[in-house]
Amino acid sequence: SEIPPIPAPLLDALLALEEPERSSKWLRCLFEEDKDEAITQIALWQAYQARFAHAVDNMGRPLLPAAEFIKNVSTTFAEKAAAQVQAGPVQKFIIKGIRLRDAPVDLTGRPYQKCLWTTPTPDGTGTRPCGAFFMEPAEMFTHIFSSHLRVPKAASPSPSPHTPSGEGAGEIAEPKTEGGKFTNDEGTYRCLWPGCTRFRNPIQIRPAQLAAHIKIHLPPPSPLGASAKQPSWVSPALTQSFSFLSTPVDERGDAAGIPLTAVLVLRNLARNLRRLGREEEEREDERENGGGRMVARYFGGVKGELWFVFAHNKSLASYLGDLLIAIAE
Ligand SMILES: [Zn+2]
Ligand SMILES: [Zn+2]
Repeated sequence: SEIPPIPAPLLDALLALEEPERSSKWLRCLFEEDKDEAITQIALWQAYQARFAHAVDNMGRPLLPAAEFIKNVSTTFAEKAAAQVQAGPVQKFIIKGIRLRDAPVDLTGRPYQKCLWTTPTPDGTGTRPCGAFFMEPAEMFTHIFSSHLRVPKAASPSPSPHTPSGEGAGEIAEPKTEGGKFTNDEGTYRCLWPGCTRFRNPIQIRPAQLAAHIKIHLPPPSPLGASAKQPSWVSPALTQSFSFLSTPVDERGDAAGIPLTAVLVLRNLARNLRRLGREEEEREDERENGGGRMVARYFGGVKGELWFVFAHNKSLASYLGDLLIAIAE
């Protein structure tokens, strides 16, 4: 896989460093040790050049020569990475022992989060995840709203849009529009986060509503200061999660409050309806239903909901059991 560009703040931090520290830190941000993996020397060297060559023109910190750069890879990974020649039909010069991280880490080892928004490939024939990296969910949110959804921004309330251009006026204008607030005018939007089923098709929606939706997709921020203890490619064991509904409980964990009262009232209603129904049917001489018609008339429509609460609310389950029995008897 190709070596991705690193996030701009990280690049800025690296650009302030001298070689060989700069290339070492850059390697650490993008790669991790893995004795079974390898990367070609040419890919590494080209990525290094692509990232830093232009900065050299601006800041005058020359790149390492290729041979030194490759030697520095081994030094950086404490001799766990080694330059090798891979035999085969085509000889390959590789660095054995490192692999590309799933997402880069910053200089403190905190991993970035990747934007997974579905975007067209450059040749327009397919799609791929956006792949831009962000440290904070808020940054990714702004990125999705402006770059992917293109939600319009309110005109900057600055008093004079065309100040007589002094020095650097252009650079000042740019961040101002970037930081502007998004408008909340209804528009046609769709959500292209992978796996989204809510807004996959374009709909008319206000950006504020859309924002609430987009936020459910954003990955949680990576913990501060907790550098990844395990390699990024080790995914945590699959777990199955169940969600339960919680309502008030007393100090012994028993159901309490209005939810409990509501279930008890419903149970009494069901029992009394059955009794009433039975009396009515006795008069009409239709004993075979045992009063069940009346209960069914009132509770039939919400049976699904009652079973749902029975299954999802641990503290109310036994009371709902009584209610369901009263309905079913
Ligand atoms: Zn994106
Ligand atoms: Zn979505």
